[in-house]
Amino acid sequence: MKYIKTALKALNGFFSLLVAVMAVAFAGCGSPSGKPNAGGIAISFDDHFIKEWYELRPLFQKYNAKATFFITCPDSLNAEEVSMLKQLEKEGHEIGFHGTVHAKSTELMAAGGPKGYIETELGPGLRHMNAAGFKPTSYAHPGGNHNDRVDSVLLAKGFTILRDVAISRRKYKGFQLYAWPPRWMNSIYYAFDGAQKVDALMVDYDEVTEEEVAEAILEAKENGTALMIFGHEPLYSAPQNGKYGFNVSFLAAILREADKEKLKFYTMSELPKFQ
Ligand SMILES: [Zn+2]
Repeated sequence: MKYIKTALKALNGFFSLLVAVMAVAFAGCGSPSGKPNAGGIAISFDDHFIKEWYELRPLFQKYNAKATFFITCPDSLNAEEVSMLKQLEKEGHEIGFHGTVHAKSTELMAAGGPKGYIETELGPGLRHMNAAGFKPTSYAHPGGNHNDRVDSVLLAKGFTILRDVAISRRKYKGFQLYAWPPRWMNSIYYAFDGAQKVDALMVDYDEVTEEEVAEAILEAKENGTALMIFGHEPLYSAPQNGKYGFNVSFLAAILREADKEKLKFYTMSELPKFQ
């Protein structure tokens, strides 16, 4: 009898140990290095459509979505625009920087070196943003134009993430040359590896289909990465007079799909914080 009791005690001890080991294993499951263990989406918008973006707030609120707004020509921000951007920031969105004059940075760099580049494209706009109370930590390259020299200046200026442009469809004089499906575009998925130079897929009118974005959302969900997309002006009909922008109903479909698949919404500066 005593022998059985001892054996049971030992067995009990063994199970306790097993439970403890399993608890430790589960606690460490998924994100041992602080990486998110679920997919996400980082949406950004470029240029200077502040009032139009502000009007998207009910749509963002419906899905508890947050986004990053990359502002160019901040010297022309009026008081109303500043207060709209402040409200967006208060609601969890991020205000990033997109250059003072929206020029080709490689050309500015070639002509004036880092000093000329900073004085023309970065300094004046940043001073305006700072004076208005914004301290942008993310940067979107105007026209997707940059090189390593430009990037090193931007990183030295304190930007933690630099966003380039990725395009699914290539056209020439109205003819489509090829379409690269977004689900195969590796560069538009953030792997939570601390990368500071990233690409976002352009989702302006006629660039991608709803189905392609839905596939890209599933890709991010399956791999635990964050899909990065961006657009320009919110439009309510097909673009006219050379306008460039995305259809608001298209954005609504993206948000609905991301919400359905339980993707987490990230702002751009949040991405490199996970490693
Ligand atoms: Zn731009």
